[in-house]
Amino acid sequence: MNMTKSFVLSLILFNWLPCLSQSTTYDIVIKNISVIDVQNLKIIPKQTIHIKDERIAKIERSKKYKKIVSDTIIDGTGKFILSGFWDMHIHICWKENLNNLYPTLFSYGITGVRDMGGDIKILTKFKNQVKGNPHSGPTLFGAGPILDGEKPVHLDFSVPLTQNNVRKVLDSLYFQKIDFLKVYSLLPKTVLDSIANYSKAKKIPFAGHVSEYVTPEEASILGQKSFEHLNRLEDLQNDTIRLSAFIGLAKSNNTWICPTLIIYKRKAEFAKNVFYAHSLYNELDNDLKTEWEQVKKKRQNKILTEEELLQTQERYKNQKKLVKRFYDNGIPLLLGTDFAGMQFIYPGYSLHEEMALLQDLGIPPFEILKMATINPTLFLGISKLYGTVEENKMADLIILNENPVTDIRNTLNINTVLKAGKIVKK
Ligand SMILES: [Zn+2]
Repeated sequence: MNMTKSFVLSLILFNWLPCLSQSTTYDIVIKNISVIDVQNLKIIPKQTIHIKDERIAKIERSKKYKKIVSDTIIDGTGKFILSGFWDMHIHICWKENLNNLYPTLFSYGITGVRDMGGDIKILTKFKNQVKGNPHSGPTLFGAGPILDGEKPVHLDFSVPLTQNNVRKVLDSLYFQKIDFLKVYSLLPKTVLDSIANYSKAKKIPFAGHVSEYVTPEEASILGQKSFEHLNRLEDLQNDTIRLSAFIGLAKSNNTWICPTLIIYKRKAEFAKNVFYAHSLYNELDNDLKTEWEQVKKKRQNKILTEEELLQTQERYKNQKKLVKRFYDNGIPLLLGTDFAGMQFIYPGYSLHEEMALLQDLGIPPFEILKMATINPTLFLGISKLYGTVEENKMADLIILNENPVTDIRNTLNINTVLKAGKIVKK
C-alpha cells in the first residue's frame, strides 16, 4: 500500500468511525438553542440537545454540517431552554377529576407539583397514573390529608389530631406512602412535638403552616421543613432584632419558605372588590367556580371603610417587603400558588404571576428561575434527576421564544414543553 492509498484509507476509517456512533437515533433533537444554566447563572448559546426515551442523552455544541438522526428535530434558533417549573403549593388531590387540568399545567411549563393537602386515595391514584405513564401528568409529591388540631380549620381533608391518636394516624399515612406530613394552623405544641419526633425517626419531612400555638422560631427548631405562606412570620416584621435572629435560625435549620405572594395580592384585590378574571376560568371545575363565586359575593357584601381599605393595602406592601427581606438574607424560597386552596388563583398561569411579583420586588430573574426549577428538586432530594438541563437528567423541558433572564414575564411566551422526553405542549 503506498502512502496515498493508506492516507485515503485512514481518511475513510477516520470518517467512518464517528459515523457509526452517529447512527444512534434519538427520539427528539433540539438544535442550536440557548441553554439557561440556573446553577452557574449563565446562558450557554448554540447547544444541541439529544433526547432518548425519558432522558437528556447528550448535549453538545451545535455544528453547522453535522447530520442529525432523529424522528423529531426542533430548530431552537433564537430560542431558550430550561428545566420544567414546579408549583410547590397546589391542591389538586381533593377531587377525582382534577387530573383533567394536567394539559393546562403542562401548557404553562409546570412539570412537577407538590400537593399540599387533599384526599389520600386520590393522591395515590394520581401518583400511580404518572408513575405508569410519566407523560400523562406532572411529577407529583403529596401529603394526603391536612393534619390539624381537634377542631380543624377546614373540615374536608383534615384529620383532627390529639396526643391520643397522633401515632396511629401518622403510622397509617406512613404505610400509605405519603411523601411528607402537612401540618396546619391549629396543632397544639405537644402534638407538633410528636410529629417532629416521628418525622425524625421515620425520615419523613413535615411541612405546612406555622401553628398558632408555636412561634416561627419553635417551628424551625422542631425541623418543620417548609413554612407555607407568611402565617405567623408577619409577627416578626416590626421587630428587627427578632427578625434577624429568626433568619439566622431558619438558615441554620435549613427551613424553607414558600411565600405564595400571589395569594396576598389576591386578598388585597378582593378588599378593593377586584376579582381577577382569566380565560382559564372556563376550564375550571364547577365546584371550584361555585366556591369562588360564593367568596366573591360575600366580599362584595362587605363594605370596607376607607381606613380598613388602606390597612389591607399597607399589609400587602409589608408582606412584599418581608419576602424581599428573606430573599436578601439568603433564606431558600419555593414558588407556590395555592391553586384550589385560594380563590381566583389559576392553574399554571398563577405561577408566572408569582414569578412576576418577585421580579417586581427587585429579585433578579435568574434567581427566580432557580426557585422555579432547581430549588424544588433540592428541597425534594431529587436534584440528581430533575431541575437542570444536563445529560442523563429527565427531559422535563420548556422551550421559550424569548429570553426569561431579561424579563421574567417572557416565561409566558412558551414554544414547546416536554415531559419525560415527550412533547406535551406545542
Ligand atoms: Zn394551601
